[in-house]
Amino acid sequence: MLRSALIAASRSAGCRTAVERTPLLRPIVDRFVAGSDVDSALRVASQLAVDRMVTLDHLGEDTLDRAQAEQTVEAYRTVLARLAREGLGERAEVSVKLSALGQALPVDGDKIALENTRRICEAAAAAGTTVTVDMEDHTTTDSTLSIVRALRADFPGTGTVLQAYLKRTEADCADFAGAGSRIRLCKGAYDEPASVAYRDRSEVDASYVRCLRVLMNGDGYPMVATHDTRLIEIAEHLAAGRKRDSYEFQMLYGVRPQVQDELAARGLRMRVYVPYGTEWYPYFMRRLGERPANVGFFLQALVRR
Ligand code: FAD
Repeated sequence: MLRSALIAASRSAGCRTAVERTPLLRPIVDRFVAGSDVDSALRVASQLAVDRMVTLDHLGEDTLDRAQAEQTVEAYRTVLARLAREGLGERAEVSVKLSALGQALPVDGDKIALENTRRICEAAAAAGTTVTVDMEDHTTTDSTLSIVRALRADFPGTGTVLQAYLKRTEADCADFAGAGSRIRLCKGAYDEPASVAYRDRSEVDASYVRCLRVLMNGDGYPMVATHDTRLIEIAEHLAAGRKRDSYEFQMLYGVRPQVQDELAARGLRMRVYVPYGTEWYPYFMRRLGERPANVGFFLQALVRR
């Protein structure tokens, strides 16, 4: 229930103002967000790139303003040019949210998001790296997957995300398990209705394992995005017949850093999702909802302000 409340708050302008005006929250935000500008993001990326890989997320989502979507494209072109200049193209890629690139615009949203993302893929190719398209709430899944299919025709390395909490995902994994596909499998971060999603944790975990099995048995490149150590163990077991460079683990910046260190130290491929930028509010609220202890720190800071 708490998680649902925080996800609802992530879309509330009033809550946003209250949270953004609470300086005591800054240390908690800094735990999950690498800073507000490209320099901070690059600093964190180059530290992590010593023994792991990175995907950089320029924070922002749900835009209904075409000019803002254009600014997002420019922000990605800037960070990709910097990755190339600093020789990080092989270790760092970018993650994008289609709702920041125009998908939700009332007219031609899909077409605009496709063209904007295509321009980011071009910049990524020039920088020697790739793009992964994040997945948002279930109303966007079909649109996102069809945009990813169109992008893959020209940029075959484009990855995307499938969410184990959705009942459709096992079938989507089968569709995307072919050679060349890059699929990040996560549990799912939005508050979805029982008509389309498993709501019970154990059902989500069971679905995660079924989906993982499909991806690991396929010819694509599975990206195992979870901090759940039980699922990480199962993933290692399912990957037993695979080469170590044919799949990777992914975790969020600031979440379970010791587990990230351990996987990297064991020579497994580990990628950290590093968000940066000023639009941290919805991302931050979703992260709070994922662990009750986070909410405790958050409420203490709000009460003390
Ligand atoms: P959980 O059962 O939630 O967590 C397992 C354990 O990890 C918890 O007990 C806790 O100890 C720790 N933990 C997990 N989250 C936190 C946290 N925020 N703070 C502190 N500890 C925590 N979701 C989408 O819907 N779309 C996406 O595109 C997407 N991209 C992602 C990319 C990456 C690289 C990762 C790792 C996650 C992504 N997610 C995305 C989020 C994902 O769907 C989950 O909401 C999130 O990862 C928590 O699920 P979990 O698998 O870690 O399992």
